[in-house]
Amino acid sequence: MQYKTVTLPGDKKIALVAHDNKKKDLVAWCSKHRDTLKTHTLYATGTTGTVIGDATGLDILRLISGPLGGDQQVGSLITEGKVDFLIFFWDPFEPMPHDPDVKALLRIAAVWNIPVACNQISADFMVASPLFNRPVERSIPDYDAYMASRAR
Ligand code: PGA
Repeated sequence: MQYKTVTLPGDKKIALVAHDNKKKDLVAWCSKHRDTLKTHTLYATGTTGTVIGDATGLDILRLISGPLGGDQQVGSLITEGKVDFLIFFWDPFEPMPHDPDVKALLRIAAVWNIPVACNQISADFMVASPLFNRPVERSIPDYDAYMASRAR
């Protein structure tokens, strides 16, 4: 795979996702970091977005609920460059009907080299980073080079 460098802007497009047993943790995290988060663009899967919006008043673009395809929707937005940061509090103790979608989302986040926090402490470290609010270079697959090599 060939890579190219793009700039992850200061205004991040952040997707927020939490499984049911983790929603309380993510709401608490969003409340704690509300002032920082409100300067970024926020997406969330359906129920996660509703509970965070109700608790914090943050403006959130709500996608489909996870079990109905929301995780795949987030993955799709990542491939399109419309989401560039993922806070995903997944539940390590419960099997989910949409486990394949969860795995797919984590894979696509790795493919496109976006920052991912899967628990509160990682998300705390990220938000405390000086990189959180400023532009930073990121390496991503060079799609044109990839296609050119495949079409040969
Ligand atoms: P939800 O989906 O925000 O609609 O609960 C999250 C998930 O289960 O992946």
